[in-house]
Amino acid sequence: MKLLYDSQGNKYWFRGKDVHTKNGFIRKEEIEKASSQTVLLTNTARKMVVSLPGFIDMYRGIKRGAQIIPRKDIGLIVAETGIGRNSAVLEAGAGSGALCLFLANIARKVYSYEIREDFLEIVKRNIEMLEMKNIVLQRRDIYQGISQKNLDAVILDLPEPWKVVPHAAGSLKSGGFLVSYSPTLPQVSDFAHAVRQDRGFLYLKTSEVMLREWEIEGRKIRPKSQAIGHSGFVSFAKKY
Ligand code: SAH
Repeated sequence: MKLLYDSQGNKYWFRGKDVHTKNGFIRKEEIEKASSQTVLLTNTARKMVVSLPGFIDMYRGIKRGAQIIPRKDIGLIVAETGIGRNSAVLEAGAGSGALCLFLANIARKVYSYEIREDFLEIVKRNIEMLEMKNIVLQRRDIYQGISQKNLDAVILDLPEPWKVVPHAAGSLKSGGFLVSYSPTLPQVSDFAHAVRQDRGFLYLKTSEVMLREWEIEGRKIRPKSQAIGHSGFVSFAKKY
C-alpha cells in the first residue's frame, strides 16, 4: 500500500486503482512504479508526493462500530502503566478494537473480551488489516469473570466497570494496574468506591486529558478552532 500527499497535506490511499484527488487524477501504472518521496503530477499538473504508510496511517483507517478511545487518552494509559514489550494485558470491551490494536502494537500479548457478535466481526477485520498476531479475542462477558492470570494490566471501557474489580484482583500480578475509562462521573465514582472497598487494590487517581492543537501557518499561529470536546475520565488503581 502507498500514500499520496498533496501540497496542503491532504492524504490519498493507493489501493491498486487510479487515484482521484481534489485536483485531478493519477494513473495507477505511474503510482505502481513510484518509490517513496517521488513527486508525481496529476492530469492538471498538481504535485503529489508518494509515501509509505506506518502503523498510525493504517490505524486511522480502521472500521468503527462502537465509539473508540481517543489517542490522547491511550497516551495517558500507556504512560501511567508503563505497558511495554514484555507486558501481558487484558482489555474489555473490544468495541471497534482501537485500544486493543494500539496495545497490541506495544505489548507482548493482548487478551480482549467483547459480548456483541457484530462488534467482534469489526474487530476481527481490523486485526487482519493491521496484521496483528498477538491478540486473543474472545466473545465473553467480563462481568462473569476473567480466566487469564498474572496480567500486567486490565483496562476497561465498559458501562459498569465496578463489576470487574473483584475479577481483576484475582487476575493481576502484584504491581499490576487496573484502569477504567468512562465518559461520566457517576461511573468514576462507583468504580473508585469499588476499588477502595477491595483489599487487593490501592486507588491511585482519576485524570482527564485536555488536548489543544495549534495552526502554524505564516503569522496565523493560533489554537485550531475545532477541538475534541469531552471524551472520558481515566481512573487508575494498583494491585498490592
Ligand atoms: N475501547 C473500545 C471501545 C469500547 S465500547 C475501542 O477503543 O474501540 C464498549 C464495548 O464494551 C462495546 O462494544 C460493548 O459491546 C462492550 N461490552 C459491554 N458490556 C460488556 C461485557 N460485560 N463484557 C464484554 N464486553 C462488553
